[in-house]
Amino acid sequence: MAYDDQNIFAKILRGEAPAHTVYENDDCLAFLDVMPQSDGHTLVLPRAPAENLFDLDTADLASLIRCVQHVARGVREAFGPDGIRLMQFNGSAAGQTVSHLHFHIVPCYEGKPLGRHGGGMAKTEILEQHAEKLRSALKALG
Ligand code: 5GP
Repeated sequence: MAYDDQNIFAKILRGEAPAHTVYENDDCLAFLDVMPQSDGHTLVLPRAPAENLFDLDTADLASLIRCVQHVARGVREAFGPDGIRLMQFNGSAAGQTVSHLHFHIVPCYEGKPLGRHGGGMAKTEILEQHAEKLRSALKALG
């Protein structure tokens, strides 16, 4: 199926929709999930117009996973979770709701169950506080 360039992440990549961006480079963009399953839930996506894992060429995929690792390090520094879950869905049957390839970085905290996938919207002020914390951690990592 052809890539739908009207999906919300395509709009964020073009600067047509807002996001709490925490990291970007020539190939990738990372921002906070607006419906976080836990504090610090972050999404990392390639700039290339790929709907799912199978649409991205391997060079871009290598760059994407490097970016995921870097941002996950920042999440670990900023939020001190007990563990970090990575998730990536391909197709609606697998739970994909936005048709632009992305990895979820979900911090996990002992004794604190994760929220529902696509549950409630977080407050903008809280998201911005978390984004700032993560940006600082990433800057310190270099
Ligand atoms: P998927 O189900 O496709 O793997 O995940 C899409 C994720 O994007 C969901 O966790 C959802 O909360 C998040 N999301 C949906 N719309 C927006 C948006 O406009 N901005 C941001 N930052 N996240 C979004």
